[in-house]
Amino acid sequence: MARTPLDRLGGILIDPDLLDWQRGLRAQFPLIAGRPDVAYLDSAATSQKPQAVLDAVHHYLTTGNANAGRGTYTWANETTAMVERTRDRIKRFLGDPEPAASGVHFTSGTSQGLRVVALDWLPELLRDGDEIIVPFADHRANADPWLEAQQLLARQGVTIRVHPLPYEADSHDYDQAALARLVNERTRFVAATHVHHVYGNDMNVHRIREVVGPAVPICLDAAQSIGHLPVSVADLDVDFVVFSGHKALALPGTGAVWSRDLRGPRLRPGGWAGTPNTAGIASLHAALDWLDNAGLDRIEQWTLALSARLTDGLSRLEPYEVLGCQASLTADSQVQRRHSLVTFRHRSISSNDLGFILDSHGVMVRADGHCQGGQGEQETSVRASLHVYNTPAEIDRLLTALAELR
Ligand code: PMP
Repeated sequence: MARTPLDRLGGILIDPDLLDWQRGLRAQFPLIAGRPDVAYLDSAATSQKPQAVLDAVHHYLTTGNANAGRGTYTWANETTAMVERTRDRIKRFLGDPEPAASGVHFTSGTSQGLRVVALDWLPELLRDGDEIIVPFADHRANADPWLEAQQLLARQGVTIRVHPLPYEADSHDYDQAALARLVNERTRFVAATHVHHVYGNDMNVHRIREVVGPAVPICLDAAQSIGHLPVSVADLDVDFVVFSGHKALALPGTGAVWSRDLRGPRLRPGGWAGTPNTAGIASLHAALDWLDNAGLDRIEQWTLALSARLTDGLSRLEPYEVLGCQASLTADSQVQRRHSLVTFRHRSISSNDLGFILDSHGVMVRADGHCQGGQGEQETSVRASLHVYNTPAEIDRLLTALAELR
C-alpha cells in the first residue's frame, strides 16, 4: 500500500513509519537518549551501543564468563559455543552462500584485520614478479599493510609490484577503465574499500570483479559499510570482508575478517592467538542481531537522507567546501549520495579550530587528517558521521552552528 510522505528529509521521502521507527531505535541507546544536550556525530570513528548489546555483555559476564577454545567445564564449553555461534552469525549477516567453506577470524578492528590478510595470507599467495593493486587514497589501514607485505617478501628475495588502485577525479570512485589497463596476467590481488571514510561514497566495488576476472582475490575494507547498509558477499563476489565491530554497535576492541577461502590459500592467521575478546564477541553477536532486526535497508535510507540534508545545507553556506563528489551536493541529486558521513572545510577557519568551536556548541565531530593513505587529502578537514540514532534536529544544530560562523 502506498504511504503518505510526512516529510522530505534531505530530498528523500520519509514515510511516517520510518520516523516512528527511528524514534523507537534512538531511545534504545542510553548514552544518546540520556544526553539530548549534545549531538554525537563521530560514528565513523566508533559507534554508540544499544541497550541490547550492553545487556548481552552483562548477561555473558554474569552467567558464564570463561575462556574459549580451552577448558572442558560448562562455562568454558558455553563460551566456545558462543564464539562459534558468532562466527555463524557473521556469515549469515554477510549473506554467505557457502558458510561451510568460509572462515571468520576475530580481530580488534579493521586495521588488525587487514594486517592479518596482508601478513598472514598474502605472502603465501605471491611469487616473484607478481603484482597487486591497492588503494592509497583510502584509509591508511588499507594501504600500509600491503607495503609491509611487499617488504616482508623482499627480505625473502621475492619482488612484487604494488600498483595504486586508480581513482576518477570527479566522483572519487575507483576508475574502472584505468584499473582494466593495469590488470595483466601477473595481477594476483586487489584491495579496495566499500564506503570511503572521507568522501562517504560507495566505491562500486562490485565492478572490480568484472574488471579483474574470476580468479583474482579481492579484499574489501568494509569498516564504513557494515552496520550502515546491506553487505552481501554473494553480490560483491569478494574474498575477504574486513570490518570493525565497534563501528557496528559492538564493544570497542572488536572486529572480524570473513574469508571465502576459495581463491588462493585458506586464511590461517599465524602464531598463537591467545585468549579471544569473549565479551566483545558476545557484543558483536548482539549487535548484528540488533542491526538485522532494525533492518539495514531502513538504516541505509535514514542515514542517506540525513547525509543528503547535511550536504545540501553545507552547499548553501558559502564559506564551506564539501569534499568528494561535487555532482551530489544537492539533496535531490540523482547521482551517488554520501553514506552516513560528510566531510567539509571552512575556507578560512582551520578544521582544528572548527572542531573545538563545534564542541563548544555540543556538537562532536572529527577534525583532523582522518588517517588517510599517502595519496589521500593532504589538508585537514571536519567529518560529521552518522548512525541510525542521529536525527534531523542534530543535523540542523550543526548547520546552525556553522552558519553562525559565516
Ligand atoms: N578502514 C576504514 C575505511 C576506516 O574508516 C577505519 C576507521 N576509521 C579503519 C579502516 C580502521 O578501523 P579500526 O580503527 O577499527 O582498526
